[in-house]
Amino acid sequence: MTIDLIIKKFAHNHPESDTTLLLLAYEFAEEAHRGQTRKSGEPYIQHPLHTAFMLTQIKADLETIVAGLLHDVPEDTSYNIDDIKKNFGSEIAFLVAGITKLGKIKYRGIERYRENLKKMFLAMAQDVRVIFIKFCDRIHNLRTIEYLPHEKQIRIAKETLEIYSPIAGLLGMWRLKWQMDDICFKCLYPDEFAKLEHKYEVEKKAERNQFFLKVKNELVSKLEVASIGYNMEMRFKHLYSIWQKMRAKNRKFNEIYDVFAVRIIVPTIDDCYKVLGIIHSTWRPQQERFKDYIAMPKPNGYRSLHTTVFGPEGKSTEFQIRTQEMNEESIYGLAAHWYYKAKMHNDDTIKHQPAWIKDIVMLQKDMKDTNNFIKEAKIDLFRNRIFVFSPKGDVFELPESSTPIDFAYAVHTDIGNKAVGARINEKITTIDQELKNGDMVEIIIEKNRQYPNRDWLKFVKTKHARDRIRQFAKPSTLKNIKDFFLRK
Ligand code: MN
Repeated sequence: MTIDLIIKKFAHNHPESDTTLLLLAYEFAEEAHRGQTRKSGEPYIQHPLHTAFMLTQIKADLETIVAGLLHDVPEDTSYNIDDIKKNFGSEIAFLVAGITKLGKIKYRGIERYRENLKKMFLAMAQDVRVIFIKFCDRIHNLRTIEYLPHEKQIRIAKETLEIYSPIAGLLGMWRLKWQMDDICFKCLYPDEFAKLEHKYEVEKKAERNQFFLKVKNELVSKLEVASIGYNMEMRFKHLYSIWQKMRAKNRKFNEIYDVFAVRIIVPTIDDCYKVLGIIHSTWRPQQERFKDYIAMPKPNGYRSLHTTVFGPEGKSTEFQIRTQEMNEESIYGLAAHWYYKAKMHNDDTIKHQPAWIKDIVMLQKDMKDTNNFIKEAKIDLFRNRIFVFSPKGDVFELPESSTPIDFAYAVHTDIGNKAVGARINEKITTIDQELKNGDMVEIIIEKNRQYPNRDWLKFVKTKHARDRIRQFAKPSTLKNIKDFFLRK
């Protein structure tokens, strides 16, 4: 890897930016690491260079890439954070310090896991760019993992699957996630990996390519008649995700593999729906396999149309239809989202964080105890998120299996406190009913009601609702009596 490649790639993504700082950071890091080598025998500077290059691939901004080049300087060389601050300013020093802090983990075993997770969350809450750098750092370390002692390999691979990969998923950074997953899979289960790889890459390859051509041939002329510019690609399945599905559902490779997946990228949202129409009039759609994530994006911002049809030869064929912007967002996740927004608004700071990142900040503020923090963070954040609507059409993001009471408290504390019933999609229901994505929820309140019901604690799913219920629930009789005597 060379700094020239990084500068070229960065200039391509950000044509108007000044790249001088990249060269300066490279020279600084190169001098600082001079004489050091990696376990692979390569000069050490190759590691920060690879990290920085991956950051240009996710279209990170200048400060992030500079920090990527410098990320191991304070840890491993005679220069410290102050030297970086003097030479590159406080923003870059802040990012580098963030990475350095993430690296320092004292504990072993389960404690180590907890501390690690907490540090990731807190870093993310402060500046998510620190996490982008950490991911790229980790991926390069994984790519060169074979040079490490076996025990260390296992530890790093496990830690990546348990902590880094789920967080990459939360951030919608699928490409990074899959890269991490497949390397760790190979490291932890070499035999299974080899078997699957052979099946997928060797046995099934020709079949896959032929089928793709069939699909493409049937669609091309129709797309041309409709004069829609398109880019069609076969979607590759990732070995680790195939393997996980095989294990979770106890299925054979062919049953999982059999859904063939195609992605079509078109210029506009309008074109997305036109292409959908063409596909549905060519092959019979499968019921309940159509998802409009453009009209209703996923909580992490993911947008696309999904449909599965009985394709050529009656084979299940899944299509994802989206614009170029949506595609980049789905590959790079939050990084791309942020990049597009920043580009549009000419805005250099991250202000566009998904709601759950703000949740972490809140959580961190009222959680002093690490164990509790992790418990809450895991419950609220590693659960899938759903969207529900108020009757006015306002959208609320909640963890999966939330109830009308969670919703009520998300709307307003007063609505929660006075709730007596709920309607879901205009049907009367109980207040502990599990909500589904897309539900319209209306809370029935009793104006004179003063306290929430303590029994709600048994079924609410969000920490927010739990906290409010505890805060406002009618004190128990015993406490009343105590208060009564204390007052006297
Ligand atoms: Mn590093």
